[in-house]
Amino acid sequence: MNAFWQRFMANGPSETEAPVRKAATCGAEQESAISILNRLSSLDQPPIPAIWTIRTLLGWSTPWLARRGIDSARLDGELLLAKALGARRIDLFLDPDRPLNPEELADFKALIVRRAAREPVAHIVGMREFWGMTFLSSGAALIPRPETELLVETILSHFPDRSAPLAFLEPCVGSGALLCALLKEYPQAIGVGSDLSAEALGLARRNVEKCGYAARVELYQGDMDEGISERLFDGVVVNPPYIVSGELAGLQPEVRDWEPRLALDGGEDGLTLLKRLPALFWRRVREGGVGVTEIGYDQGEQVVALFREAGFAKVELLMDYHRLPRAVVMKVEGREEV
Ligand code: GLN
Repeated sequence: MNAFWQRFMANGPSETEAPVRKAATCGAEQESAISILNRLSSLDQPPIPAIWTIRTLLGWSTPWLARRGIDSARLDGELLLAKALGARRIDLFLDPDRPLNPEELADFKALIVRRAAREPVAHIVGMREFWGMTFLSSGAALIPRPETELLVETILSHFPDRSAPLAFLEPCVGSGALLCALLKEYPQAIGVGSDLSAEALGLARRNVEKCGYAARVELYQGDMDEGISERLFDGVVVNPPYIVSGELAGLQPEVRDWEPRLALDGGEDGLTLLKRLPALFWRRVREGGVGVTEIGYDQGEQVVALFREAGFAKVELLMDYHRLPRAVVMKVEGREEV
């Protein structure tokens, strides 16, 4: 086995010696190196092709990433290859036999090496889909999760009139994805977001602008509703940090090592922020309005009890697509009496 193929098998396609070769120019020595490698790697790798195409490269990168502990190796490879080619993911399927030049192979290699270090795909490609929209994504804020779409659905079922001029407040706004999803569904609505983190607010601002909602959004740096003028909202939505501090170390590396601790760490019992929500909702939600929070899958009972104790009669626990407790919603009724 010559040095190039040894390096290639260990590290993926090399920047300087990407394996774009014409079969006719392969010497006998190299041919036999390839056949040895094919035999060596046949257990979990497809044969090394003479010319890399989209199809063969993905066929190679999928087990390569999977061996490094990546669950969604095929999908991630596709997203990263699309990024390396400056193409859309669908373009990969439209032209699977497109050959790749050495520069493209080198770009792809740099991206999958980052992924193998467990950097999230959303950070590497700089984007993540949420509620059918594309948001900028970085280490400045939590990557939008599909589970969080449940909060949008909850608001939609509570306020069926899409043309209502609603006002939403989102503390811990992070990337701004949730607030933007609400503004998409309610074209007459306005949104106020806050975050402790200046970096998160910078990302939220860019996302709000990208969506074209700048005129309908105000962003504040502060703790929950701190600094926001006295007023009531139709809906307060929040995805606070709720992970128990002691459990952070056990999270998957993508979350533990690459997402901001401020957005995850819910303190000793995971409830530090959640415990502050009854008072916040009471302070900020108008009569007939609604407060919704995301919760950890094992926090349902505790959080429902927390809200009941605080005097909210209509508290409901909501399940996500995995049938796990994921959100708690409370309707604010009877403000006048209290
Ligand atoms: N759902 C996230 C996770 O489990 C945590 C989000 C949060 O703390 N708000 O990684």
